[in-house]
Amino acid sequence: MSEGRVYLVGAGPGDPGLITARGLRVLRDCDVVLYDRLVAPQLLDEAPPGAELVFTGKTPGETHSRQVVIDALLVARAKEGKKVVRLKGGDPFVFGRGAEEAALLADAGIVFEVIPGVTSAVAAPAYAGIPVTNRGMASSFAVMTGHAAEDDDLPHAQVSADTIVLLMGVAQLRDASKRLIDAGRSADEPAAIVQWGTTSQQRVAVATLGSIAEVAEREGIGSPATTIVGKVVTLRDVVAWFEARPLFGRRVVVTRPRAQARSLVELLEDAGASVIALPTVEITPPDDATELQSAVREAVNERFDWIAFSSSNAVDSFFATLADLRIDVRTLHATKMACVGATTAKGLAARGVLADLVPDESTAEGLAAALGTGDGSILLPRVEGGPRLLPELLAGAGWAVTEVTAYKSVAPAPSRSSTVVKEGGFDVVTFASASSVRNFVANVARPEEVGIGSDDDAGKLVVCIGPSTAAEAAALGMRVDVTARAQSTRGLLEAVMTATHR
Ligand code: SAH
Repeated sequence: MSEGRVYLVGAGPGDPGLITARGLRVLRDCDVVLYDRLVAPQLLDEAPPGAELVFTGKTPGETHSRQVVIDALLVARAKEGKKVVRLKGGDPFVFGRGAEEAALLADAGIVFEVIPGVTSAVAAPAYAGIPVTNRGMASSFAVMTGHAAEDDDLPHAQVSADTIVLLMGVAQLRDASKRLIDAGRSADEPAAIVQWGTTSQQRVAVATLGSIAEVAEREGIGSPATTIVGKVVTLRDVVAWFEARPLFGRRVVVTRPRAQARSLVELLEDAGASVIALPTVEITPPDDATELQSAVREAVNERFDWIAFSSSNAVDSFFATLADLRIDVRTLHATKMACVGATTAKGLAARGVLADLVPDESTAEGLAAALGTGDGSILLPRVEGGPRLLPELLAGAGWAVTEVTAYKSVAPAPSRSSTVVKEGGFDVVTFASASSVRNFVANVARPEEVGIGSDDDAGKLVVCIGPSTAAEAAALGMRVDVTARAQSTRGLLEAVMTATHR
């Protein structure tokens, strides 16, 4: 049995992009995750599919009794030889009880590592446009708890820092600000409170130390929030950047398969959206790999005149099988290859093979028409249960067709992101293909269940990449708010902007 290990990892303040590179690496390779309440759900989807996910959250006001359970679990799983990630909001050692857990692990003789995180004490102000220090304005900052301490005297060093950052204790903000004033801070000093900093729900209120509690209350700003006191608050007027981005505050669902989602996710994030990646299908190998293996061997023996790929998944699976069988691709030199669609042809080109035929029209009919009548043989590596049209058209034109299951397209395993979407926790959903629409309805939710039915007016928006995607959405009972003018990733981004700003 390998030795277990615990990683105390800072998850960052809320924006899932703010976890460290090392934190993400261990998260992607762990067996167990114990996570706190304020950890971004997107991060939990980074854990490997079979990982055990344990919510350890104390909701505010709850007692500490849960810590005993967490401690026991950390030790038990590590002793089982597991890689355990203890994922904590912000930095594990800033009011996160990380030190206590580290001491416990040391005591139990368990190997552990600490991976610091971006603390909300600095990041929430930063996303609100408030630098905690600034030359000539603030040369020190103190981070303290907003919970009223039993003993009333605030330590001098904290109170005299140029900038004071208060974590926790939003409900006791009135007491906290009074104590600061009593300790010598001016009631007229600028102060700000940042709720859900770095997330799409970020809200900021600015006032003075004397009035911040009242303003926060009036504006309904509650936990989790960070309060900043000091001159630096005035810099927000100039520095505020996060809320100014065009898609700030929008939670946008990307339904593209993971392998194709990246460029859209990046464009949306750059425009300030909070992206929920929710692939509506998962591509898996066929149940029986030997069928494809024998087809590949036959192809090598020049059994087929043509191999026709109708998706890049089919290309991937075919070439992976060649590699598994340790067959050199050059043995297929006499076999012609056809591709439906430019993306499929690109997938083939990435393997060093230029397609002999790519029909102008990217459909089964287009391929059948381009191949014409013939008496040769064709191998079709396909998705399990794929539509009958292509093999029927080809057989009708005289071809000897051999179909083989190259991959399966199945409903993805439930994820944190799918739960978020099912509960309606999004503002915009994007579709880049008719099949994504179908798979969303089949595998995620019916439109009316999540407020995007044709009669719904819940403020949620549906954006499609092009007319056939939009037609499929409408046919399946979805409202379609905007269809992209250009059928590209950038076109889809522009359509999201149009939809959200009209
Ligand atoms: N270890 C954490 C802090 C834990 S204490 C860190 O380094 O950030 C929890 C407190 O952190 C909350 O009560 C709140 O004051 C602050 N906090 C956490 N996430 C926040 C967020 N997204 N925006 C503003 N404040 C946040």
